[in-house]
Amino acid sequence: MQEEIILSTSKKQELADITDKVNGIIKKSKVKNGICSVFAAHATAAIIINENYDPNICLDLLDALNKLIPAGVWRHDRIDGNADAHIKSAILGPSETIPIKNGELDLGRWQSCMFVELDGPRSNRKIIVTILGDKD
Ligand code: ZN
Repeated sequence: MQEEIILSTSKKQELADITDKVNGIIKKSKVKNGICSVFAAHATAAIIINENYDPNICLDLLDALNKLIPAGVWRHDRIDGNADAHIKSAILGPSETIPIKNGELDLGRWQSCMFVELDGPRSNRKIIVTILGDKD
């Protein structure tokens, strides 16, 4: 089964917790045990698994990326000014594969599945969720 999540973002950079949305798609699929791929179909966004209990982790991640990869100093900036977002997206990666157990993501206690906006705000961010597994 495959389904899309369409997200709007409101900031230049932000993390959006999509764990509940993904679990909702798994529930609809009726898959009990298997794997779930979560893929951001964009060159300036990413999918990560990390802590969201303390939202400062999300801000720290963005701060660390911004320190490592400054804006405005890259060749591609002459095209559309967002080379840093492409580089951050490539480093974080566009997807995660997560085990499904008992009909939901089998994440660790402090793990969430998050969409990372790196060149927002955008109104039409597409995340493709693909679910494979056994229904019994
Ligand atoms: Zn670009």
